[in-house]
Amino acid sequence: MGTDSFANLKRLQLRVLPDQVLRSVGADIETFDKGLQDFAKRMLSFMRKKGGIGLAAPQVGVLRRIVVVGVHGQEMVLINPSIMPVTTDSDTKTEGCLSIPDETYDVTRLFQIEVRARDVKGKKLNFAAHNLLARVIQHEIDHLDGVLICDKEASGIGSRERGIDNANI
Ligand SMILES: [Zn+2]
Repeated sequence: MGTDSFANLKRLQLRVLPDQVLRSVGADIETFDKGLQDFAKRMLSFMRKKGGIGLAAPQVGVLRRIVVVGVHGQEMVLINPSIMPVTTDSDTKTEGCLSIPDETYDVTRLFQIEVRARDVKGKKLNFAAHNLLARVIQHEIDHLDGVLICDKEASGIGSRERGIDNANI
């Protein structure tokens, strides 16, 4: 990727399967400048417009490690995010994805995680997340690694709840 090439995007466009950009791995972000901050704002408004609760940069064709999340009325931008399990507890719920229109999949994920990331100014973030927020963050980080929910359909092991049908992340 060229330096901050995402800053020059004219208009964000949703990428859907079988677009191969969704299968590619995003590069770390190293420059926390105005171009990045503008792009983060555009991602947030794009997510809202599409009725999503999360969006990862590859979903708009940008192979960089930035995601936005909007859960329970709280929005956040996570740059170069990583997670660690807090416990081994997991649960299985139905997820949708803006990039896989009209499909839902049952996906097993960690229930409680610790998140490390940077904000748009490069400040370190470190917080705990559980339940829906933890699920959305895991979904978005998967996007940064080219992994989609259709790859992760639950095996049927473990507790099964139907919870966030129609959520677009
Ligand atoms: Zn998705």
